[in-house]
Amino acid sequence: MERDLNGRVAVITGASSGIGEATARALADRGAKVALLARRAERVESLAEELSSNGAGNAIAVEADVTDRESLERAAERVREELGRPDILINNAGVMLLAPIERGKTDEWRQMLDVNLMGVFETTDVFLEQLLDGGGDIVNISSVAGRIGIAGAGAYNATKWGLNGWSDALRQEVLGKDVRVITIEPGAVNTELADHISDEDAKQRVESMPESFDILEAEDIASAIEYAVSRPERVQISELLIRPTGQPN
Ligand code: NDP
Repeated sequence: MERDLNGRVAVITGASSGIGEATARALADRGAKVALLARRAERVESLAEELSSNGAGNAIAVEADVTDRESLERAAERVREELGRPDILINNAGVMLLAPIERGKTDEWRQMLDVNLMGVFETTDVFLEQLLDGGGDIVNISSVAGRIGIAGAGAYNATKWGLNGWSDALRQEVLGKDVRVITIEPGAVNTELADHISDEDAKQRVESMPESFDILEAEDIASAIEYAVSRPERVQISELLIRPTGQPN
């Protein structure tokens, strides 16, 4: 039997835009209580208001930076007090600062490692005990860039390949403890992700993709996440690679 999402408590990092925002909407529509974590407080506050006023489920906005452990610990306290024990964690916050390796953008490499890898490790560490205390789902948002190397995406590739390995190690470590670990690997999705790319050529390459093929919408990934977390308990969707139909690699 499908797992009912009604009343489940989902923590979503990077809920202020794109895939995180769409996932919050999808889960709240099914009656889940959602904790919306992001740095842009005003964005998550207005989303929380909207979702709560729809009457589908409770939503709270929590200002949190995944590179700041204390802000994650404060978030965990608020979630527990205001929504109850979290049983879905969606590690979605991420940055994609593309540039050829030879440009040597070391600050951007470090930022991607901090957010896309250490951010996921720290967030999971903060919430894991509660997830293990009754079971749940951990969804890690990786990328097609975690499956193939892409020229111009070296450090981003490294974070997402690293995330895939870490995610599968975690899946094995929590076997038998009622926690499923799900890795989602989207191809190109229409979000704000490319806005922060400082290398003009790389940015232009990403922004011109929709001229070659129809890219995905954030809702396409949100519905895959909703599907994975609502599978019967015996089913673990360990990995989902979701490309736009026209994306060659
Ligand atoms: P967006 O830029 O729309 O969303 C990224 C989210 O991450 C924002 O909500 C942002 O919130 C949050 N974020 C960034 N840095 C931090 C931080 N230090 N602490 C907390 N939150 C942070 O892009 P997407 O929705 O596309 O990205 C979501 C995930 O999907 C990422 O992990 C990305 O790598 C992955 N992905 C995206 C693809 C795409 O084509 N769009 C393809 C494959 C994977 P705020 O700035 O408010 O903190």
